Amino acid sequence: MAVASLDLREVFLQKLYSIPNGRKVNECIQCGTCSASCPTSHAMDYSPREIIAALRAGMLDRVLRSNTVWLCSSCYSCSVRCPAGIPFTDVMYELKRLGVKHRIGDKGAPNTVMAREFVHLVDRRGRNHEPALIRQYFLHTNPLRALRQFPLALRLWWRGRMPLRGHTIKGAAGLRRMMAAIEENGSK
Ligand code: SF4
Ligand code: SF4
Repeated sequence: MAVASLDLREVFLQKLYSIPNGRKVNECIQCGTCSASCPTSHAMDYSPREIIAALRAGMLDRVLRSNTVWLCSSCYSCSVRCPAGIPFTDVMYELKRLGVKHRIGDKGAPNTVMAREFVHLVDRRGRNHEPALIRQYFLHTNPLRALRQFPLALRLWWRGRMPLRGHTIKGAAGLRRMMAAIEENGSK
């Protein structure tokens, strides 16, 4: 059975139509301005223009399994320049949420790892701790690269720019409860 079942497509359409101007996806004229404006389209499996066409053709599964969703850097160039006013960046965010929630797509992509580890840190401490974030990022993506970055990390630490101990905010437990409630609400 295809992963993007009819139910999943319905969930996606519901989310898509709930974002401002989400319905404008149906007004795409396939001009390609979004693809031409996109700084990462050269590395994408499908360009932004093709993603819109695939979504309209009901090919959600193919879209979620492509690397396009995970290579979008949320620069908003496509959204700003689209003559049809399609909020393509927000469409990408909905696809990312859907992919993460249903565990479909490129889970090992660097930006997915970065986002996941950032959320874990904030969930645990109530704030980011850059050294821990970078450590986890490299561990899950490219540990060898972490070794190459070590001299830089050492220099930053020496100058007091990289505290080894992270801080936890007051009321972190309350924040965790709030995030859990938001997540629960968002999954409905
Ligand atoms: S710029 Fe807008 S109208 Fe043109 S292809 Fe991209 S999404 Fe469609
Ligand atoms: S927001 Fe994403 S898809 Fe749009 S131009 Fe920027 S990187 Fe490309």
